[in-house]
Amino acid sequence: MSRISIFWHRRDLRLADNAGLYHALRSGYPVRPLFIFDRHILDDLVDEDDARVTFIHQEIARLQQTLRERGSGMLIRYGKPEEVWRELLQELDVASVYTNHDYEPYAQERDNAVRALLGPAGISFHTYKDQVILEAGEVLKSDGEPYTVFTPYSRKWRETLASRLSQPGGDLSASFYLQSYPVEKYLDRLAPGAGDETPSLDSMGFRTSGLEFPSRTVAQSLIGNYGKTRNFPAIEGTSRLGVHFRFGTISIREKARKAVGLNDTYLNELIWRDFYSMILAHFPRVVDQPFREKYSRIDWRNREEEFERWRQGRTGYPLVDAGMRELNATGYMHNRVRMVVASFLTKHLLIDWRWGEAYFARKLLDYDLASNNGGWQWAAGCGTDAAPYFRIFNPASQLDKFDRDRRYVKKWVPEYETPEYPAPIVDHREARERCLEVFKEALNG
Ligand code: FAD
Repeated sequence: MSRISIFWHRRDLRLADNAGLYHALRSGYPVRPLFIFDRHILDDLVDEDDARVTFIHQEIARLQQTLRERGSGMLIRYGKPEEVWRELLQELDVASVYTNHDYEPYAQERDNAVRALLGPAGISFHTYKDQVILEAGEVLKSDGEPYTVFTPYSRKWRETLASRLSQPGGDLSASFYLQSYPVEKYLDRLAPGAGDETPSLDSMGFRTSGLEFPSRTVAQSLIGNYGKTRNFPAIEGTSRLGVHFRFGTISIREKARKAVGLNDTYLNELIWRDFYSMILAHFPRVVDQPFREKYSRIDWRNREEEFERWRQGRTGYPLVDAGMRELNATGYMHNRVRMVVASFLTKHLLIDWRWGEAYFARKLLDYDLASNNGGWQWAAGCGTDAAPYFRIFNPASQLDKFDRDRRYVKKWVPEYETPEYPAPIVDHREARERCLEVFKEALNG
């Protein structure tokens, strides 16, 4: 049995420009990549045809094929990570384990448990920044405290990046920031042998989703025009790369490098992504609590039948309904519309933001705990950088502004403007007044 290093893929389903893999390949031992279909995550999923599982399955099969073409292969296991690791340590002579940081609370717990298992066996555990550009500890206020407001955070983020990029040379241990990790130079250090067969979806209790996955490439012109097109849901004006950033099928550094100089608004969105990842890392309580504690006093109405109409896209508010139907049909919803439907649920219907958050978590291809939680808390007004609660989106004026010719609405709500289309579930003005009262009472009480 020859001694190896293991590289554990999680949110980084690619070989190119992969920080942890790069370091593993330079560790001195042949490297065996590993992926675990994690039962802690899979067992909680509601839908048998969950599209994220199909996506991961497809990407793992693709990686396996690429590795085999090079005479190597990946270990692919299904189970609870700690148990899988116990088995692996029986089977293999492991010198060290490499992986990339994962900031979600469950992931931290998982990694601590695995680290605790490896330590006594004399196996080192190395983990690297890979899925964000700048992580939690890298962008702090001058007093060392985390930022909780986006604009000053983004200013410091940009300063930090600019100062690192202007440093001569580049120390690998200090990370490459926007440069690439040239994994391809070291691929001959992969361990020989074909690895495991990919378990079938069926054997894990799933079936293939019929959803289409967005391309991992984007026209340069789209990014170039992003500032002008990004708010209009009827046009292909955003990159649709969310799912690829989520599972690391593309490198965030590579895309950010391209955005610098090409489109600053696009770069700003990538900074939002780092911002919410940083918030989750510093304030893990946001997972189920409002960032602003006073908001836990809100007396939500939480009417099941209204929630059901919102989910189905039958509220009688065309932009809300189009968005929900787009989500249900494709696993995607345009950002402008995400803001409108989230505001509508929490403010017009007074339904707890956690209900909406959980529904998005079930449906979105690009679902990411940090960004989804940040988006929902922002919309409900209880988040870090929230709009004040008395600023309530008017879904009709949002429609006039961002889908003036109703192209988006007509695409998703074919019965729009016919007698079959439902009457509004609430009157906008009344709902607005009701919301202001409920929020005021909770916050001033
Ligand atoms: P583009 O507009 O092309 O942006 C490029 C990338 O920048 C995105 O893929 C994403 O990684 C990042 N980004 C853009 N806007 C934001 C933002 N506001 N916050 C954080 N990152 C951003 N984004 C997710 O990735 N996962 C989620 O689960 C998620 N849930 C959301 C829930 C709500 C209620 C709201 C209001 C927003 C949510 N977002 C989420 C942010 C945003 O809507 C999506 O990132 C974006 O619509 C994805 O489409 P795109 O890839 O075409 O994005």
